[in-house]
Amino acid sequence: ESFIIERFMKVVGSASILTEEKNVLKLSRDYYWYSPVLKEELEKKKADIILIPETTIELKSILNLARDSKIPVTIRGAGTGNYGQAMPLTGGIVIDLSHLNEVIEWHNHSVKVQAGMRLRDLEKQANEHGLELTIYPSTFAKATIGGFVAGGSGGIGSVTWGNLWDGNVLEATVLTMNEPVQLLTISGDDLLNYIHSYGTTGVIIDVTIPLKPKRNWRQIAFQFSSLTNVLTFTEDVASSQKWNKRLVTVLEAPISTYFLPLKKKLSQTGHYAFLEIEEDSYLEIKYLAESLDGEEEYTVEPSHYRKGIGISDFTWNHTTLWALKNDDNWTYLQNFFNLENYQNQISTIKKEFGEEVLIHIEWLKDKGKLIPAGLPLVKYSSKERLYQIIEFFNQLGASVNDPHTYLLGAGGWNLQLEAMAKLKKVNDPYDLLNQGKMPSTKAISVM
Ligand code: FAD
Repeated sequence: ESFIIERFMKVVGSASILTEEKNVLKLSRDYYWYSPVLKEELEKKKADIILIPETTIELKSILNLARDSKIPVTIRGAGTGNYGQAMPLTGGIVIDLSHLNEVIEWHNHSVKVQAGMRLRDLEKQANEHGLELTIYPSTFAKATIGGFVAGGSGGIGSVTWGNLWDGNVLEATVLTMNEPVQLLTISGDDLLNYIHSYGTTGVIIDVTIPLKPKRNWRQIAFQFSSLTNVLTFTEDVASSQKWNKRLVTVLEAPISTYFLPLKKKLSQTGHYAFLEIEEDSYLEIKYLAESLDGEEEYTVEPSHYRKGIGISDFTWNHTTLWALKNDDNWTYLQNFFNLENYQNQISTIKKEFGEEVLIHIEWLKDKGKLIPAGLPLVKYSSKERLYQIIEFFNQLGASVNDPHTYLLGAGGWNLQLEAMAKLKKVNDPYDLLNQGKMPSTKAISVM
């Protein structure tokens, strides 16, 4: 280990190398513990050292040295992924890119930005230009753009703009592990080999993403006594052409009772629709909710948007986080219900599992098609039972993207895995990038 440190010290300043056990462990981990299965499998995994480059030139030198010495490399943004994506399976170095965090260039309707920039900072800066992001994860306060592109899928905004694969990444600059390291500019369909690749095919150093004119957003929590009504209401809002929206979420009772910071705001009985909509559609949407016996319980006015805790801080996988804070036996699944019969699928699931599975829907667009995407909470009892539930969902056609595996592709999202594996052989001939995550490559320990 000291021999590795010495060699890396020659290429980066010592301030950028972390070797202390506590820091190494911290920066070797992500939110893998959301899954009791991954918690057991990955708990002991860690890097030998952490490197935090200040410049892309330093990053390049680190990659060159790692390749020459055949040292495994795992890239880290903010480490907020849920599948152990950013955790090194075979030791080696973790390179934390969070200091490469500058905007490179503003364009009229897009921005080119370094991979380590936090999405919230980017959104703030875009707002100053009268623009806003299309999509971002609910972790945007911490998450980096590079980590989102390489490890995420969608989030707030996806109900309108789709996921990462729907035109929300325009271009990426990538460093390879060839000799010498190559700098590639990737656009169009070639991006499919890098989006949600866990950094197995290359190191993204900057990304160009589209921006849209900034809108005036309001957040609202509506309470419903009937699950059918809240589903119908949210489908109407999500499918409407005339209302602009960033978020349409359904939370079955008693999920809202886990949201401690909202205790005084919500009556916390019943099912909830959590929305983020454009201000000028507020009254129409409120009337629609009332016509289905929905009641507005809490709203964040546009003037208070993002000042303090907001409604979106309880959606997407933050819902699971609040549930876990309440009871650490909760875990979750990711699935796509069918727009045509999701209400039947949901009632069949409720009949079968009762309180063991609680419904959480995020309405989103995928390749232009509206989908009620599930992030259901599941009471964990055993791995065997978890996979019985997954099987039940799949049999029903409510297909699950398994979040309890660190293997790329097993989690769904229709990745072009074969093309990725092929490209990995070209860009990373020694299989050093995020070893063991690509299912067709074998994890080999070289340290
Ligand atoms: P990291 O976790 O650091 O990295 C993710 C993956 O990308 C890793 O495999 C890493 O090796 C790789 N990587 C990172 N940077 C680069 C790079 N520059 N080049 C190549 N590879 C790289 N995800 C969503 O999509 N939508 C959500 O709404 C959402 N909500 C969440 C809520 C909670 C409470 C939590 C804990 C997670 C949530 N996530 C969500 C997952 C995660 O937060 C996001 O995907 C986030 O964008 C990851 O960014 P990060 O910077 O933390 O990436």
